[in-house]
Amino acid sequence: MQDAIVLGGGISGLTAGYLAQEKGYDVTVIEKKTTPGGPISSIREQGYLVETGPNSLLLPDRWVESLIQVLGLEDELQETRAIASKRYIVKNGRPIPVPASPLQAITNPLFSLGGKLGFLLEPFRKQISEEEAENETVADFVSRRMGPDFLDYAIDPFVSGIYAGDPHKLILQHAFPLMRGFEKDGGSIIKGAIKHKRRQKREGTAYKKRSVSFKTGLGILPKTLARKLGNRLWLGSQVTSVRRENDAWRVSWIKEGETFEANAKRIFVCLPSYAIKQIDWSQPIAERLHTAPDLIYPAVHSLALGFKRDQIEHALDGFGMLVPSKESPDILGALFSSSLYEGRAPEDHCLITVMLGGIQHPELGEAKHEQLLGIALRDLEKLVGLKGDPCYIHRSSWPQAIPQYTAEFGPWKNALKSLEAEFDGLHFGGNCVDGIAMGASILSGKRLAACT
Ligand SMILES: Cc1cc2nc3c(=O)[nH]c(=O)nc-3n(C[C@H](O)[C@H](O)[C@H](O)COP(=O)(O)OP(=O)(O)OC[C@H]3O[C@@H](n4cnc5c(N)ncnc54)[C@H](O)[C@@H]3O)c2cc1C
Repeated sequence: MQDAIVLGGGISGLTAGYLAQEKGYDVTVIEKKTTPGGPISSIREQGYLVETGPNSLLLPDRWVESLIQVLGLEDELQETRAIASKRYIVKNGRPIPVPASPLQAITNPLFSLGGKLGFLLEPFRKQISEEEAENETVADFVSRRMGPDFLDYAIDPFVSGIYAGDPHKLILQHAFPLMRGFEKDGGSIIKGAIKHKRRQKREGTAYKKRSVSFKTGLGILPKTLARKLGNRLWLGSQVTSVRRENDAWRVSWIKEGETFEANAKRIFVCLPSYAIKQIDWSQPIAERLHTAPDLIYPAVHSLALGFKRDQIEHALDGFGMLVPSKESPDILGALFSSSLYEGRAPEDHCLITVMLGGIQHPELGEAKHEQLLGIALRDLEKLVGLKGDPCYIHRSSWPQAIPQYTAEFGPWKNALKSLEAEFDGLHFGGNCVDGIAMGASILSGKRLAACT
């Protein structure tokens, strides 16, 4: 009998499998697709370096940095360029730089006078009760603490950029637990954040999070983990059933039409919630999962577009721009990919990655290539002064991209927790449990491997 079987070879499953293997455990990782890493992969084509899914890894702590070193990827690491520290938000059809200092915030046209006042008054606003806070949405929280202007032109586009989601539907304590913690701990976001920083300094845990990639793109991270796992990783293999039999977990999967089975003491389930529900589980697990709510996964399209640099008027001096849902462009936003990291486009060319779809635009879920391209080019023309057609196009579509931490998320997570408590050796992780950022999924894999 094996020590552990990991279901799913996204970044969480690969990390869990690799760390368990490093501890000397007999482990197998089973992944449905023929490539590892879920949406994380990088393509070099015609001199462009394109990310099909995530574009940046926000390093959450020192441990993830040390994992990169241990994997031998330290020399591959790429910091964001200084120019990318600027971020734009679209207002009245124009990208406006996000204020980088309190002084800039006062003179910045992104927020009205009332909005600026709302922000300044944040530390003096009253808290609500624990009970009321439990199901408070991100939108209600931000409106309550900072006013509607801040919601429309800071939080709404930010939520769109991270979750491709709707702040009126996401539950604050699940989607942004740190923000909720700041209010709970300090009585206000600002006071809580200061307290949090001081505590980290005192405890020696302060860490300045930063966005990174790799010279050959983010795809090298799952590829390296996959290489380390060697033949312990089964690609092109779909888990079909999981049975609890005689204190062991019996996992079945199909690869190229053939069925395989193995027994393990533990299973680490690192699958999307809909995939967990599709598996044929033994009772009573099947029934309990069946009655747990479904999480919503909106579709997201990523269009990587290459242009000659002189086709675009805008300086592209930033990370990119986000579009608030109040504004008329239909794109969710665009990353100035070749400004973000070195080596993303040929000399005298630039690469822009346009995101479309999300919860705000369900009508684009199954949109055809020409429609998506038409919207992207029309919006880039208005927003950054694009002239002419792209000289390079790469489209990646994710029909079920990112789980939404809406009202369904709490009961979903509780259902998984109660199953874990009841069944020895059953553990759930990944982005339908532990946070949706790539860094959160890596830490989720670490948490699971600690259960071995
Ligand atoms: C377009 C896009 C852009 C993003 N941008 C960023 C970004 O810039 N920064 C950031 O931090 N995060 C970003 N994210 C989020 C981040 O990439 C994900 O949350 C993270 O990679 C999830 O990893 P995971 O291992 O938890 O899940 P997944 O990567 O979803 O892994 C689950 C795996 O299970 C496999 N699977 C499904 N069913 C079965 C089955 N029956 N048997 C076996 N295997 C199965 C799937 O093929 C998949 O590989 C983005 C996501 C998308 C889609």
